[in-house]
Amino acid sequence: MNTNEKRTHWSTPKSSSTNPKTNEGRINRCRICGKVYARPSTLKTHLRTHSGEKPYKCDKCCKAFTQAANLTAHLRTHSGEKPFSCDICGRKFSQSSSVTTHMRTHSGERPYQCKYCRKAFSDSSTLTKHMRVHSGEKPYECSLCRLRFSQSGNLNRHMRIHMNGGSHHTK
Ligand SMILES: [Zn+2]
Ligand SMILES: [Zn+2]
Ligand SMILES: [Zn+2]
Ligand SMILES: [Zn+2]
Ligand SMILES: [Zn+2]
Repeated sequence: MNTNEKRTHWSTPKSSSTNPKTNEGRINRCRICGKVYARPSTLKTHLRTHSGEKPYKCDKCCKAFTQAANLTAHLRTHSGEKPFSCDICGRKFSQSSSVTTHMRTHSGERPYQCKYCRKAFSDSSTLTKHMRVHSGEKPYECSLCRLRFSQSGNLNRHMRIHMNGGSHHTK
């Protein structure tokens, strides 16, 4: 193997020296799930979803991410920056996915349906909360009397009983 040719090995797509057995050249295929990517960098990012490697770490909390874009999106939750806004009502959001979810409140679209009672919801977290009605799961516990609740709203309402000393019914 000697290359006497004067060529810059920066931009020669034919000879990728990193992987000795790639004769597939420019096909960036994932060895694990077979997905094909247009660019090697995209494949590299994708491979992290298999390896679990999360090189992008938030320095404000201990969360780590596989993709730089995910970290960028996450950082906005700390900075309070909201670059995404709803075209219809102008409400601002820190994540583009939140806009997608929010738009459903305008369109009336409810893609998340409860498999037990067929009730439909516009976002997955509301469905998750709703499912507890069926499962009987009660993750919210009153720290004062140990009573348990399926929804945080119910616990909050309950807490008022303790705040008011239980003597009055306030609305
Ligand atoms: Zn894969
Ligand atoms: Zn963070
Ligand atoms: Zn809106
Ligand atoms: Zn249901
Ligand atoms: Zn209580």
